[in-house]
Amino acid sequence: MHLGGLKAPVVGVFVAKGRVSIVVERCKACGFCVEFCPTKVLALSSAFNSKGYHPPHVVLPEKCSGCDLCGMYCPDFAIYAYKIPEQKSEKAKAEVKNEG
Ligand code: SF4
Ligand code: SF4
Repeated sequence: MHLGGLKAPVVGVFVAKGRVSIVVERCKACGFCVEFCPTKVLALSSAFNSKGYHPPHVVLPEKCSGCDLCGMYCPDFAIYAYKIPEQKSEKAKAEVKNEG
């Protein structure tokens, strides 16, 4: 993309983190998402869905990067994740404040 000499605005540091969504009723409790999550965000819950399976739940939400490996491994399209930008890091906020 050509910006025609326009300078891109600098709005601080954005750190991507993830959010994961689980479609409980689609899950068959194979455990792939739990097994392949690199940061062990998920665990199979003790609750049942209507088919009698234990779907995963999020146990360490702050560790989710939004990589969507869980979604790629799920054979039933029962889980997906996405990256979310943080508002601004605390450091970036401090820098903006100091620049006054
Ligand atoms: S998006 Fe990545 S880090 Fe988050 S739960 Fe899925 S596999 Fe784990
Ligand atoms: S990979 Fe899909 S079907 Fe398997 S436990 Fe996870 S959400 Fe359920």
